[in-house]
Amino acid sequence: MIKLSKTSKLDGILSWSLQAIDTCPGSSDGNGGLVAACQGCYATTGNYRFPNVKAPREFNREDWKRDSWVSDMVQSLENSRYFRWFDSGDMYDLKLAEKIRKVMLHTPWVSHWLPTRMHKFPKFKRVISEMQVLSNVVVRYSSDSVTGEIIPGQTTSTIFSDVVPDGAVECQAYQHEGKCNGCRACYNKDVKVIAYKAHGVKMAKVIKIQSIK
Ligand code: SF4
Repeated sequence: MIKLSKTSKLDGILSWSLQAIDTCPGSSDGNGGLVAACQGCYATTGNYRFPNVKAPREFNREDWKRDSWVSDMVQSLENSRYFRWFDSGDMYDLKLAEKIRKVMLHTPWVSHWLPTRMHKFPKFKRVISEMQVLSNVVVRYSSDSVTGEIIPGQTTSTIFSDVVPDGAVECQAYQHEGKCNGCRACYNKDVKVIAYKAHGVKMAKVIKIQSIK
């Protein structure tokens, strides 16, 4: 059985998620630490620490390996018009990425938003390109920065603290009690860069650490 999640932010839009950090090889800074954006990761705090939230993420880590996972996913998206991959976690395994691409291909009625750091790994380039050519898919590369640095890529995102970076569209969720409130910019290929305002005590500390470096 497919286990999807629903976060209050996303207007009821469903996600398929994994445990954060454990499945995020792109979060490593290469020196045993985490890149700045992942140091303040919302998915390692609050509700995400509860066993009932962790359990489906642990379950999904094994479940995607089933032969019928792609067809089961396609079936569970029958009534969805939007879908967000990885409310937490990332497509850490190439075989998982191939399966996700098949789900995307076989659900043309769904607009898929896939935020990722796996673009850092050359072996993922081909499958990401094959996702990007699909008209219903936005693969959004996440910048490691918390100070608004924009990275190269067709569609990307970054985190900022004070000034919205030039050329980026600011996420307005913080003005709507943290909810998308009808906005679908992240799913839109024409929106090249989304800038999320840093929030939370943890992220504030990361920004302080970053700014004194
Ligand atoms: S930019 Fe729009 S769709 Fe993306 S997270 Fe913010 S409110 Fe939601």
